Amino acid sequence: PAPQRGGLFGRLFGREGEVTIEGPRRTLDDAMLEEIEDLLVASDMGVDTALRVTANLAEGRMGRRLSVPEIKGILSAEVARIMEGVARPMPLFPRKPQVVLVVGVNGSGKTTTIGKLASQFRAAGKSVVIAAGDTFRAAAVEQLQVWGQRAGVPVMTAAQGSDPASLAFDAMERAGREGADLLLIDTAGRLQNRQDLMEELAKIVRVIRKKDPTAPHNTILVLDATTGQNALQQVEIFRRIADVTGLVMTKLDGTAKGGVLVALADKFGLPIHAIGVGEQIDDLSPFDPEEFARALTG
Ligand code: GDP
Repeated sequence: PAPQRGGLFGRLFGREGEVTIEGPRRTLDDAMLEEIEDLLVASDMGVDTALRVTANLAEGRMGRRLSVPEIKGILSAEVARIMEGVARPMPLFPRKPQVVLVVGVNGSGKTTTIGKLASQFRAAGKSVVIAAGDTFRAAAVEQLQVWGQRAGVPVMTAAQGSDPASLAFDAMERAGREGADLLLIDTAGRLQNRQDLMEELAKIVRVIRKKDPTAPHNTILVLDATTGQNALQQVEIFRRIADVTGLVMTKLDGTAKGGVLVALADKFGLPIHAIGVGEQIDDLSPFDPEEFARALTG
C-alpha cells in the first residue's frame, strides 16, 4: 500500500517509512519525536504544549514501531484529553437579565459572535437585548444593528463617541423593564491604549453593578484563530483588564492554526463556549474536543 499522505502527519512517513502490510511504520526514536513536535508547533500549538503532548506519546513507546494511524490515534487522544475539561457551553443562570459582557480586540469577530449568540438564544426561546457598547466605532454599531435584525433582537445604541457605561446602564434598565433573559454588551477593542480600555471596561462593570451587584455574569473573550500564538497574549492582556470567564474562538474554518486552541486550554484552562466556523448566522458551533482533535491530527 502507498504511504499515507496529507493531514498534519503525511510528511512523517513520506521517505523513510518502511512499507509493511499495514502501511508504513517507523520506529519511535528521538528523531521522529522531534519531527512530530515540529508538526505540532507548526499547527500553532506552542512549544510547551507540543513538548508535553509528544512526551506523553513517547511514554512507554520508545523503540516501538508505529504506523501513521496509530500515531494519529494517540496524539488525537492526547489532544482530546487536554481539551475535554474546557469544552463548556456558556452557562445560563436564572438571573434576569443575565448580563454577558463581550470583549476582544477589533476584528476578532466580536460583532459577528454577538449576532450569532443572539440568534441561538432566541431560537432557544430566550428574549435578548444587545447593547452596542463600542460607541466610537460607527461601523461596529451599524454591523450590530444588521445582526440584530437578522436575529430578531433589539439593539440599543448611543450617539457616536458617547459614554459606553451610560449606554450599558440604559440597557440594564430596558432589559429589566422588558423582563429580558439576556443582555449582550459589546465593548471596544482598542488595545493601542490599554489604560483607557481598562478604565472604560471597569466603568461599564461599575455601572451595571449599580443595577445588579452580581453582574456581569459572563465575560466572554472573543479570539481569532488565524492570529495563532497572538491569541495567547490576548488572553493574558484581557485577563488583566477584565474578569474573563470564557472564550469563543472564531474563524476556525479554513485555518491551519487551530492548534492554538490546545495551547490555550493547556495554559489557561478557560472554558471554550463555542467556535466560529463561518460568517453566517448559524456558523457558531459548540466546541467538540474529539471532533477537534481528529480534525487537527488529520
Ligand atoms: P469585531 O471587529 O471584533 O466586531 O469583528 P467582526 O465581527 O466585525 O468580524 C471581523 C471579520 O471576521 C468579519 O469580516 C466577519 O465576517 C469575520 N468573521 C467573524 N467570525 C468569523 C468566523 O467564525 N469565520 C469566518 N470565516 N469569518 C468570521
